[in-house]
Amino acid sequence: MINNRSSKFMGEKRSLSIVIPLLNEVESLRELHQKIQQALEEVHEPPLGEVEIIFVDDGSDDGSFEELQSLREVDSRVKIVQFRRNFGKSAALAEGFRRARGDYIITMDADLQDDPFEIKNLIHTLESKGYDLVSGWKKQRRDPFIKRFTSKIFNAVTGFLTGVHLHDMNCGLKIYRREVIKSVQVYGQRHRFIPVLAAQEGFRVGEIVVRHHPRKYGQTKYGPSRFLAGLLDLISLLFLSRYMKRPLHLFGGIGLLSFLIGSGINLYLAYERLFLDKYLTNRPLLFLGILLVIVGIQLFSLGLLGEMITESRAENLHYNIRNEIGFDDGH
Ligand code: UDP
Ligand code: MG
Repeated sequence: MINNRSSKFMGEKRSLSIVIPLLNEVESLRELHQKIQQALEEVHEPPLGEVEIIFVDDGSDDGSFEELQSLREVDSRVKIVQFRRNFGKSAALAEGFRRARGDYIITMDADLQDDPFEIKNLIHTLESKGYDLVSGWKKQRRDPFIKRFTSKIFNAVTGFLTGVHLHDMNCGLKIYRREVIKSVQVYGQRHRFIPVLAAQEGFRVGEIVVRHHPRKYGQTKYGPSRFLAGLLDLISLLFLSRYMKRPLHLFGGIGLLSFLIGSGINLYLAYERLFLDKYLTNRPLLFLGILLVIVGIQLFSLGLLGEMITESRAENLHYNIRNEIGFDDGH
């Protein structure tokens, strides 16, 4: 029988993993843990099974790790991963995801800007709407103007380019079904695009408005370089999702176009030189023609090279499968 998502867990308990990446947030941790504890007590429907709170210490040097250890002493649901150095939020999430055992996984920032009391709503929305991922939307965002402004642009551009329209793609507060985190690859700074990655795999993505608080302690871990990083990651994401399996379609197309235009220009110049007796000195067009031909060949070769790489990795390419029915090994 085909498992229908909403009935899959009927009456069953859901296990939950909360994954929290943190870098130098020592002042917030105790309060955060307390709030999470309280918030979890509010969740009755569906009943929660096992809960784990995975803190990933992304290279803090302010005593965050010691603070986490003392939290674990009073709450054995607390689990800790400590990086040797700062590897970034994406890395922290990826390692948290790797270890998460829950049916549902919630991520949140450690700086108390995200509100743990949204846990209940997140679970409820995921279940009742049949989403695979629900992202928070900090509608009333308590951040400096410049960040709110650039974030709006970022979300609009990302929505336009990827077709995944969310108000707040990069909200730290999200809930995922287990399948989602097991199939998206989060590295570099791609945590900003997890909803896009998930949607590309065919998962259903939704959003709900969540409360947001100003930063109480410490300061933001990101400077203005975040904007450039975000843009480059978006380009890499678009490229990988659309052309990874067929690189020649991108490079070959542009290369061919460039080559043809360049050749056209050169033929035209050759015609003028040979039949109309016009000289080629002082004709900037000649340089353009030559340039386009060379660039065209380069790009085309790059596409072929890409095809060779894809070909040799073809066995590893996989597609995300929702159900398999009638296979011998019990699927
Ligand atoms: N963070 C992290 N590694 C980093 C940078 C940030 O684990 O290299 C954590 C940080 O401690 C916080 C979350 O990611 O829990 C969001 O960071 P921050 O609050 O500085 O970002 P903002 O809210 O300003 O966008
Ligand atoms: Mg923050």
